[in-house]
Amino acid sequence: MKYLNILEARLGRKATREEIEAFTVMWSEHCGYSHTKGYIRQLSKVGTGGNAGVVPLDDYHFLAFKVESHNHPSAIEPFNGAATGVGGIIRDVLAMGARPTAILDSLHMDKVIDGIIEGISDYGNSIGVPTVGGELRISDFYKYNPLVNVMAVGVGKNEHLIPSKATKSGQVIVIFGGATGRDGIHGASFASEDLTGEKATKLSIQVGDPFAEKLLIEAFLEMVEKGLVEGAQDLGAGGVLSATSELVARSGLGAIVHLERVPLRESDMLPIEILISESQERMAVVTSPEKAEEVLKIAKKHLLFGAVVAEVTDNGRYVAKYHDQIIIDVPAKLFEESPEEPIHDYTPSPFKKFRWIRFKDVDAHNVFERYDYMVGTDTILPPGFGPAVMRVKGSIGYSLTIHSRADIGAQDPYWGAYITVLEAIRKTLSAGAKPIAITDGINYADPDIEPLGLAGQMKGLKDACEQFNVPVASGNASLYNTYKRKGIPPTLVVGMVGKVENLNIPKPTKGHVYAIGYPDFSIEREGKLQEEIVRLVKNGHFVLSMHDYSRITTFKTALSKLGMNLRIQIPRTEPVHQMIIVFGEPKTNLPVRKIGFCC
Ligand code: ADP
Ligand code: MG
Ligand code: MG
Ligand code: MG
Ligand code: MG
Repeated sequence: MKYLNILEARLGRKATREEIEAFTVMWSEHCGYSHTKGYIRQLSKVGTGGNAGVVPLDDYHFLAFKVESHNHPSAIEPFNGAATGVGGIIRDVLAMGARPTAILDSLHMDKVIDGIIEGISDYGNSIGVPTVGGELRISDFYKYNPLVNVMAVGVGKNEHLIPSKATKSGQVIVIFGGATGRDGIHGASFASEDLTGEKATKLSIQVGDPFAEKLLIEAFLEMVEKGLVEGAQDLGAGGVLSATSELVARSGLGAIVHLERVPLRESDMLPIEILISESQERMAVVTSPEKAEEVLKIAKKHLLFGAVVAEVTDNGRYVAKYHDQIIIDVPAKLFEESPEEPIHDYTPSPFKKFRWIRFKDVDAHNVFERYDYMVGTDTILPPGFGPAVMRVKGSIGYSLTIHSRADIGAQDPYWGAYITVLEAIRKTLSAGAKPIAITDGINYADPDIEPLGLAGQMKGLKDACEQFNVPVASGNASLYNTYKRKGIPPTLVVGMVGKVENLNIPKPTKGHVYAIGYPDFSIEREGKLQEEIVRLVKNGHFVLSMHDYSRITTFKTALSKLGMNLRIQIPRTEPVHQMIIVFGEPKTNLPVRKIGFCC
């Protein structure tokens, strides 16, 4: 462990074997964000952070959303890797007190990997949450390192918003859900190294049980409704250790954890294994001692295991015990204070002409037709047309999109990230929505080999968000997407939520189709273009914000399902351009040209 010396200096003594195991997990890149913390801190943010980002939707509801990566597990075990990726991010949204309402997936791979698609559809379909959008990006860049980024969204009532921390000593922490086994031990540290590392075995991969997750969702929301949940965190990477330590460390508190109380599904587990197992479908609930019994009753009613596993203390120490034996006793804050690697200043190069790096034009229907995107019947705009639009029963709606431009990122990490944000904004506007915030998924190769690429990606993200007024609500970072030290191009995945006040969004219409805007890009024009999208949508035009055209086949299929046929000459453009496709004759001051028709 690279950070052993730092740990021992901070402890002021030699670390025990258990401490080394525990800090290997908590200070792994995946849990500890050593290379990215400094950059993430500089982003302009909205909300309080926590398990998922939270933004207000109207006077009564909030949206919770976050993106999560499951790249490493999906490379080794496509089905379970992708499935547990969905399960994990759903629990982050749930932990905020929101009912999960939608899933989006951003997939980068060299060919359609059926196991990954099936893992997502099997899990999402079984828990009854629709997968309403995503992107399928096929390129040899991802031959050894497929990227599976999954975004989940949920809607909650303001009075049910749950903090991601304990608030006072005397509270207890209940862990409930599936029983704990040995699966996923060292998953977090595996996700923080090259795919040829020694942890790249199936033993590091978690196994998902979507039916348990469905029960977990209903049980947790019942606890929330009844006012029993005073704080919560999902169990993901780092298991009991990560959930309990983060819950107390965030408020400067401590905890005594009783590992013998954790319900197990394998006998003879070592205490440290119980502490760091990444068994899925588990949640940690902070509650008052007198409410704990009711919490356990609800878990049991939903056929789940549960136990009061920890007490919150005010001395700031994190103590993990197995019966009377003390396994770990360290300051709780120490887990949070993972060492930080230096960050680098990045001076962007001026915008230049980029080359076309073509991603394969595939029909994403082959993928998302395997997903249930209508369950819940709140999906207003199904996949294939651009952003998804969902309604909140009786009132307003929200748009969802997930987007990336690794073809540009491969040529310039700054502009790749910058343009991704801009295009996500255009897409959101094209659904008649107003951008609210983003969740950013950083996917990168080895920051120790190429630190500046990461700096460029982060700066491009920061600048675009600031210049176009869209704050960051949450995010994720996945580094070391390398195989034999060769890596993926900088691939920023941007998930954006928007507010839809008028659910009567324009649909594609028969008649002439136009291209509006410019075949190349200049920042000065961007604001004008965005305003124009808003105006056109208001005037009833269906606007397609298409960027590298590798998605046009998917759009054509979507239209054919509505009985429509699109015949257009795709406009000639640079890979980064400011051209939109508009249905119906538009009134506009921007350059406009007829490119075909829809019949
Ligand atoms: P979890 O352990 O619940 O899966 P993560 O470890 O992925 O969560 O993220 C921890 C916290 O850091 C979350 O609040 C998340 O939103 C925030 N975060 C992580 N990466 C980013 C990022 N790139 N931008 C903004 N926030 C981020
Ligand atoms: Mg974490
Ligand atoms: Mg979490
Ligand atoms: Mg998580
Ligand atoms: Mg994460």
